[in-house]
Amino acid sequence: MKKMTYIALACALAFTGCVTTEGGSASGLSAVVSALNTTGAVGSGGSKTENQVGAAVDVFKAVTVSDEELKSVALQYRAYGDRTEKLAPPNNKYSQRLERLTRKHVNEDGLNLNFKVYLSKDVNANATADGSIRVYAGLMDMMNDQELLGVIGHEIGHVKHAHTMSAMRTAYMASAGRKAVAASSGTAAKLADSELGALGEKLFNSQFSQSQETESDDYGLAFMQKHKYNVKALESAFRKLASLSGKQGGLDQMLSSHPDPGSRADRMRDKTGGKK
Ligand SMILES: [Zn+2]
Repeated sequence: MKKMTYIALACALAFTGCVTTEGGSASGLSAVVSALNTTGAVGSGGSKTENQVGAAVDVFKAVTVSDEELKSVALQYRAYGDRTEKLAPPNNKYSQRLERLTRKHVNEDGLNLNFKVYLSKDVNANATADGSIRVYAGLMDMMNDQELLGVIGHEIGHVKHAHTMSAMRTAYMASAGRKAVAASSGTAAKLADSELGALGEKLFNSQFSQSQETESDDYGLAFMQKHKYNVKALESAFRKLASLSGKQGGLDQMLSSHPDPGSRADRMRDKTGGKK
């Protein structure tokens, strides 16, 4: 239980659901290697040679995966999440608050977005390549409306800059679920829940890079400016997260590869006119 909380916090501090990656095509080779390892390790029947052949075919499919196919996978993955997480019903007070804050952003910056709440105490939010953004009740409890909008702007940044697409590409290429897809059709086959679960684990265990987080922080700030929201709210959101991490012993190692929320708050402060 305690460990779960730490994991959730680590994610929240990256503001991403910690779905991530080293980035799209640049890491293609390592993703292909993982795809090879994954499929090679399955070994469910057949000779070693057959498995190797199967792996090679999977690698061929993996390198040809299209953005359209990835969006289809993201949609399936999100539907699976909405089925397995505690999705807040529309008349729930959290849903109503989020709807009030996000109704004017469903077609933000050329994107089709949808926003829903997961009724979990986790301090977390995440986005997927299909334009779904999910906010956890624990984060909503902690943030005022303007801070929440800052976090939402940050998450939109991950979609707009295709970080979520890169993350899905990497996870999908490394996932055994890839085997279920017909190479020629260019569209994703329907994945079983077990495959979507495995995909989710790969997404969860990876992280956005520091530069992707910084890019999304900047996007979030520009979003606040564009809509005349309180531009100081992102800084205060990060301060809140920083104070949370300070209270949690044992978090440091887990967070070592995440951007430090205190530094991110300082950066937001410096970009919005320095100290008050
Ligand atoms: Zn992020």
